Amino acid sequence: MHKQLKNDLIHLSSLLEQTKQASEPYLNEINERPPATFFSKKESLEISHEGLGAAKTLDLFLERYGDHMPASNGPRFWGLVTGGTTPASLMGDWLTSVYDLNLSHAANSIAPNIEMETIHMLRQLFGLSENFSGAFTSGATMSNFAGLAMAREWVGRQFNKNISQEGLHSIAPIKVLSSEAHSSSFKALAMLGIGRGNMKVISKLNGNREAMDISALKIALAELKGEPCIVIANAGTVNTVDFDDLQEISHLKSEFKFWLHVDAAFGGFAACSPKYAHLLNGINSADSITVDAHKWLNVPYDSAMIFTKHRDLQISVFQNSGAYLGEIAEPVDFIHLVPENSRRMRALPAWFSLNAYGLAGYQDIVERNCLMAQKLGEMIEASNMFHLVAPVRLNVACFTLNGDLSAERVKTFLTRLRDDGRVFMTPTVYQGIPAIRAAFSNWRTEEADLDIAWQAMTECYK
Ligand SMILES: *Cc1c(COP(=O)(O)O)cnc(C)c1O
Repeated sequence: MHKQLKNDLIHLSSLLEQTKQASEPYLNEINERPPATFFSKKESLEISHEGLGAAKTLDLFLERYGDHMPASNGPRFWGLVTGGTTPASLMGDWLTSVYDLNLSHAANSIAPNIEMETIHMLRQLFGLSENFSGAFTSGATMSNFAGLAMAREWVGRQFNKNISQEGLHSIAPIKVLSSEAHSSSFKALAMLGIGRGNMKVISKLNGNREAMDISALKIALAELKGEPCIVIANAGTVNTVDFDDLQEISHLKSEFKFWLHVDAAFGGFAACSPKYAHLLNGINSADSITVDAHKWLNVPYDSAMIFTKHRDLQISVFQNSGAYLGEIAEPVDFIHLVPENSRRMRALPAWFSLNAYGLAGYQDIVERNCLMAQKLGEMIEASNMFHLVAPVRLNVACFTLNGDLSAERVKTFLTRLRDDGRVFMTPTVYQGIPAIRAAFSNWRTEEADLDIAWQAMTECYK
C-alpha cells in the first residue's frame, strides 16, 4: 500500500476529527459570511507524484479555497431556489459517503429499502397517493427528463409503437403543451429527441398570472383531433410561483388523450402547509411528478425525486439488463428505473431530515419562508426605491427598481449587492421587464435576515 494511503488509514479517526474542526468555523460564521462571491480562478495545481496525504491536503484546501467559500447554504442566499442543509441532512450526507453504497441493486445491501422508505415518507409529506412509486435522481432536470421519457414511451404505445425499442422515427413528431415550462424541460425535450421546437406554448391567464389559461389548453388539445400528446403543468413557476390549475387540467383527461407531467420542483412543498396545500389540488391525477430535494427539502446537492404511476413504462425506458446484472424482478432494482446506473445513497440525507423534523418541521420551514417573502414584498411596496412586478404568491418576491429601468441597471445593482456580501439575489425578465427574484427556501432564514438584507438593498440602490 502506498505510504500516504497507509498513513491515512492509520489516522482515519483523527482525519475525520480535523475535517469536523475545519467545518466548524464555516458553520458558525454562516450568518456573517457573504452568501455569494465572485472568484477568478488561480493557476491550476499540478498533480504531485507522491501525494501530500490527507491532513496536508486539508490544509492546502483551506489555504487555497477556504476563505473564498460562500455561504450559499446560509440564510441570505436568495438567488435561484437554493435551499440549504439541515443538521440532520448533513449527518445523513456524511454517512452516505462513509458507507459509499452503490444503490443500483437490492441483492447486495439494505440501501434500496432506505430509498423506498424515504419515498414512502415523501409521498406522505406531499400528499401523494400510494399509486405513485418514486425514485431519487440527481436533480429536477433529471426528474423532468425521466418523466418526459416515460411520457414519450406512453405516446408511442398509443400508436402501438415501442419507442425505447424502435426509436422515435417510428412515429410522427410528439407535441408538448405547456405555458411556462422551466428551461430544464426544454433541455429534457432536446435530450429525448422530441425537440425543443415541438413545445407549443399555451397562453396564460390574464391579470399578472403565469398560470395556464385552461380554455386555451382545451382549444390546443381539440386541435390535435385525438392525437396523443404531453402536457407539462407547472406547480410553482420560478418568477412568481404561480400554479397551473391541476384540478381543471385533470378533468380534461376524460375528454382528451395526454400524459400529464407536473413540474413541482419546489412548488410541491406547498403541500407542507394547510395554508397553501390547495394549490396542488388535482396533483394525484398526474402521470409523473418532479420534486427537487436539494431545494426546499434542504438536503445537500444533488438530489431530487421522480414519482410516477407507470412503472411498466419506466422499466421499458430505463431497463438496464445484462447477463452480469441479472433479471428484472420485484422489487424492481433502481438501476431499471432512472437514468443513472450506479448511484449514491442519495435518499439517506432526506431520510435523516424527514425523521428529524417531521411534518411540523417542514411546515415551519415552508411557512416561515413564505412569511419572509410576504414581508419583503410589503417592504418593497412601501419603499420609493423598488416595486413588485407581481404579487408574492408563495416564497418568491419578484420586483424591480424604480426610475429608469434597464437590464444593465438591474445587473449593476445586483453586482453591487453581491459584492456588499450581506444578501444575494438573481436577475430575471418578467413579462418583458428586467426584474429581480428574492427566493426564500432556506431553513435558517429569520426576520433578522430581512432587516440585514434591507439595509444592504437600500445602501446599494442608486
Ligand atoms: C430548479 C428547477 C428545475 C431544475 O432543477 P435542478 O435541480 O437544477 O436540475 C426544474 N423545474 C423547476 C420548476 C425548478 O425550479
